[in-house]
Formats: sequence, C-alpha cells, structure tokens
Amino acid sequence: MSIEQQINELREELRQHNYNYYVLDAPTISDYEFDVKLKELQALEAKYPEYYDANSPTLRVGGQITKNFETIVHEHRMYSLDNSYSKEDLLDWETRIKKLVDGEVQYTCELKYDGASISLTYENGELIKAVTRGDGIQGDNVTNNIKTIKSVPLKLKGDYPPKFDIRGEIVLPHEGFIKMNEERIAAGEEPYANPRNTASGSLKLQDSAEVAKRPLECLLYNITGNNLGIETQFQSLEKARAWGFKVPEVSKLTNSIEEVLEFVNHWDVERHNLPYETDGVVIKVNNLQQQEELGFTSKAPRWAMAYKFKAEQVATRLNEITYQVGRTGAITPVANLVPVQLAGTVVKRASLHNADQIAKLDIREGDEVYVEKGGEIIPKIVGVNFTNRPEDSIPTVYASNCPECGAPLERKEGEAQHYCPNDNGCLPQIAGRIQHFISRKAMDIEGLGGETVTLLVKEGLIKSYADLYMLTKEEVIPLERMAEKSAENLINGIEKSKEIPFERVLFALGIRYVGETVAKKLVRHYKTIDALMAATEEDLVNVDEIGIKIAESVIEFFAVQEHQELISRLRVYGVQLEIGAEQLANQTDTLQGLTFVVSGVFHRVSRNELKKLIEDNGGKVSSSISSKTSYLVAGDKMGPSKLEKANKLGIELLTEDAFLTKIGL
Ligand code: AMP
Ligand code: ZN
Repeated sequence: MSIEQQINELREELRQHNYNYYVLDAPTISDYEFDVKLKELQALEAKYPEYYDANSPTLRVGGQITKNFETIVHEHRMYSLDNSYSKEDLLDWETRIKKLVDGEVQYTCELKYDGASISLTYENGELIKAVTRGDGIQGDNVTNNIKTIKSVPLKLKGDYPPKFDIRGEIVLPHEGFIKMNEERIAAGEEPYANPRNTASGSLKLQDSAEVAKRPLECLLYNITGNNLGIETQFQSLEKARAWGFKVPEVSKLTNSIEEVLEFVNHWDVERHNLPYETDGVVIKVNNLQQQEELGFTSKAPRWAMAYKFKAEQVATRLNEITYQVGRTGAITPVANLVPVQLAGTVVKRASLHNADQIAKLDIREGDEVYVEKGGEIIPKIVGVNFTNRPEDSIPTVYASNCPECGAPLERKEGEAQHYCPNDNGCLPQIAGRIQHFISRKAMDIEGLGGETVTLLVKEGLIKSYADLYMLTKEEVIPLERMAEKSAENLINGIEKSKEIPFERVLFALGIRYVGETVAKKLVRHYKTIDALMAATEEDLVNVDEIGIKIAESVIEFFAVQEHQELISRLRVYGVQLEIGAEQLANQTDTLQGLTFVVSGVFHRVSRNELKKLIEDNGGKVSSSISSKTSYLVAGDKMGPSKLEKANKLGIELLTEDAFLTKIGL
C-alpha cells in the first residue's frame, strides 16, 4: 500500500470511530486503540506533509491559534425567531399562515437548544467554514475552533448535495459544565455563570487546543442552499442525520396546533432529563414550498415560531446588597432577599454577578425583584417590578472599596469583575489562602478548621500558611473555644502535615489554575519544586496537558518575591517539596493510556491507595463509567448500577488481586 493510501485509510477509519463515539454514542474500539491510531496518523502526516488535508481527524485536537477572527458575510442571512408564550399566540400565528398559503399545514416541533448558533458550510462533503451568527448578516470565522468539536463531521457520508449550509447550536451539556466549574473552583477561579455563555465564549478562544478540551457538542436543525432535493423540514432532519450530523431524535411531525401543544407540555417537564439546556420549542411549517411562500419579515421567518418555556420565577423583596471577597480577591455582589420558595427550595440569597449587571437591570435595595431558577445552579435576579418601587428609592452605587479591608477596588480593562488588590492585607484573602492550604484535598490538617484560621489571622498570629509552622501551643490556648487538648491536636496536625506528599503541597500553594490534577501532572514531570521553579514557559507547555494559561500562571506565581520566601520557609520547616523516594521508585508507565474506575471495598490496600497506585503507574482514575473506561476495579459491596453499566458497555472487571498483579505487586 502506498503512503498516501495508508494515510487515507487511517483517516477514514478514525472518522468512522469519531462518528460512532460522538454522534451515535456507540463506540466500537477503546479510547486507547483510538489514540494509538491517531498518533500513527499524526506521525505519518508529520513525515509526509505533502498529503496535508485541512479536514484530517488529527485536527480535532486543536493547536491552531486564531489571533483575529475574520468577519464573513453570511450567504444566507441567519434570522432570529419570533417568540410566543401561549396557545393564543400560536393560534394567531396559524391564522396568519393560513391566509398566506393554501392547503393543509403540518408542523415540525423541535426543541430550542440554548447555546450559540453556528452556520457550517460544506462543499463536496467537506467542511469549508464555520461562522458564528454575529448580527445575522455577518459573523466571525471560527472554523479552527469548530473543527475540534467531535460531533461536527469534517467529511460527510451518503448522498449529500454538492454545496449547502447547515445551521445548528453549539451547546455545553450540563455534566461537562459542572465538571469545568468544579475544576475552576478548585483552582481558585470564579465559576462560569451558565452553559450558554460558556459555549459561546468557547467559540472565540484564540487557542483551539483549549476549545478541544471543552466538552462541546453541535446539534443541527436547518439546511440552507439551492437545489437540495429536499421537500420538508422533517425530511431535512433525517437527511442531515444520514450524512453524519448530530440531530436529536426528539423532533416530531404534527398536524395541528393542538398536537404542537401536546409536544410543548410533554417537553416542558421532560426537558429536565436531557443532558443539555433547552429554553423552548421551535415550531416550523413542515413543507418547504409553503415556507418559501411565507418568506421572512425583516427579523424572522414567518414559517417558524419559538415557544418559550416559562422559567420558574417568583417575586420577592431585596433587603440589602452586600459584597463578598473571594480568596483571589474577586468581589461578588450578593442580593439578600426576603426568603421565598422557588422550584422546591427556599431562596435567601442570589448572585448579582457584577456592577454592569446591577446597572443594566437598575436593581436597588428595597425593590421587589423577580428571581428565576434557570439552568444555573445559583438563582438569579432577572428584573425589577418598577411599579412597586418605594418612593424614597435611591440608585445603587457599586462599592468603591473592599468591604473587608477598605482598599479601593480595581477593575481590569475588559473584565466584568472588581478585585480587591490588597492580597496581603485583606482578611478573607489571607484567610482564604490558608483555608485552601489546610483543606482536605491539600494539606488536610487535622484539628484546624476554617473558622479557627480566620480567628488566628484576626488575632495577628498568622499571616500566611508558612506561619502555621511557627505556631506554639501557648499562643493558641488563649483563643476562643480552645482548650489544652484542642490546641495540642492543632499543633500535632500541623506537624503531621509535613509528611503530606509534594503533589498535594503544590496544590495547597494556591497557584491559579493549578488544581489537584494539574499539580499531580507537574510533580510527575518535574519531581522537585526547584526544577519546577526553574522551568520556562516553553518547558511547561511541553508537559502533557499543560496549556499556556497554566504555564503563565505558574511562572507568574514563582516570580513573586514573597512567594519565593514562603517556599524557602516551607522548606526550612520540613514540608515536602519534592517527590518522595518511594513514590519515585514506584512510578512506572505500566498503565499508560488506561482509564480506571474504582468501586467497592478493598482488603490489601485502601481505596485511596489503590487510586494512587493507578496514577503512580501512569493510569488515569475516573469517577464514572463511560465508554472511555478501560477497567472497573471491583471490590466488595460494589454499587449495582456501576456493575450494570460496566456490563452494558462491555468493560472488563478486575479484582483487587488481578489489579495488583497487573502492576507487579
Ligand atoms: P432568538 O435568539 O431567541 O431569536 O432565537 C433564535 C435562535 O434560536 C436561533 O438563532 C438559533 O440559534 C436558536 N435555535 C435553537 N434551537 C433551534 C431550532 N431547533 N431551530 C431553529 N433555531 C433554533
Ligand atoms: Zn480587601
């Protein structure tokens, strides 16, 4: 076989596997096997650049940088949709339609996916470009980023027309969104507000490798073009599916507005069980001939209508706006509300996000406000009932100084959030860093809790985490609620933390973007803090899974004189700043490329030891079973649902002994 044939075959094969996995949700090979094939293709492409293909599956991993997104005029305008909120609205719409077209009208009902709209252009079955909606007339060319989204086919299958546009929505499913936020919080960053904004923000990231890491999906709903040989909207969905696009099966063909309403009522409840966010139903005249007769208004097609689901909403009084300071100094304005029942929970507080949001909605203390629980985890205020505004109401003036330390707040160019810049003199920041340091996943200091930390800082006994190691029992005893015994426990707990392994110490330092997993990666690679501190940005980005953002943050952290001093002190006190000899000796690559899920109770080692053994030997530990799982290590009393899922996906089970044998123990 010639090299070219070999390359083409590999591409074809990988494409099919991508489709099986991301569109059909039914993979036929393991991730590991997939990676091996992908690497093989990457190597061949690197060696024989003459066979370059802009739509090769290797481009899925990203790496292309877009500095400025080129503006592109849409060949077919991207309209918005008219909204309706009641049965009457829909019946009115039907009346308008029936005046303009002859014959029976059928409607397709689809869910309205809440994400960022996108237009994809295909020529001869290949993805040519991907453009955001922008203002509907022109948008941004985000092709490099879109190519990393695995459910977007780069090459089509079947009897596709030679040229067409297909429109859809880029969404971020709940599970991925929650996971991204957990990682952000662990790394000391503000969590993202909601999946929709995060999805649309992702499309404009400059580094496509960053986009590749985000679990985005592309759901398609509209084909546009000339001479497509398609007669109805419903048929177009089926065709798109057959050409390899991800088109949710939820859509339904209906014969009347009554049936449309049945669909709406059903999905108003059922939508909460979908993996992604939806905010309504889109109803479209099914017959494309009729669609053409109906045409467009200046804003929207006459043949389509969005029916918005009602978000659960209540009105309540806003007592007071207060400001919270996070460990990184970020200020969050908080609405303190008269407690109210909403979607099954009592809501007392809601985030106001930032100064712009408060100004935009003109939210004031004393107002009656509308609180809504949408896709977000934290309820939000969506508006003010101006008719109930007290006469003596005064416009909100955003805090100019830190509520904790009084320092003038700062706001960086282009950022929505205000920050307190006084990192070394602001109690919640100082205490927050120390609280992070002692937390369970970091130094896990027994006998010391968050409140005690605040007290110690307030009393002037500690100013940094390094100061913990200088505390004496005598200093601690006089504190409120401290006794001889608890003081002793505290000092012992601190002493014991000197045994905590380096990877957790590194996480404990509180370097922005360095969460638990990143810390482990860095330690596995650099082994000592000195080596890590000596690394350049270039070195850092060459470490597996370390991106530019993390690299910059690490460099920045160690460049600060005070941080260097903290590290020198930790070293003097005997805190672990390099990988233990034992851990080093135990590190192998035996499990490289394999992902494990651990479940149940074990005998020869503890569950945590087991997880550590997996990581020490180069494997990955994941908490839930998916098609990416290589093995389920099964102990006693394992959860039945895990077992069932593993069986269903055909994932191999390992006993404790079998696992330990695998790594030579
Ligand atoms: P709006 O932004 O509220 O005017 O609503 C119009 C937008 O809804 C379109 O630009 C699409 O991005 C989005 N949308 C989501 N799901 C669908 C769907 N099934 N059909 C048409 N548009 C949809
Ligand atoms: Zn402050």
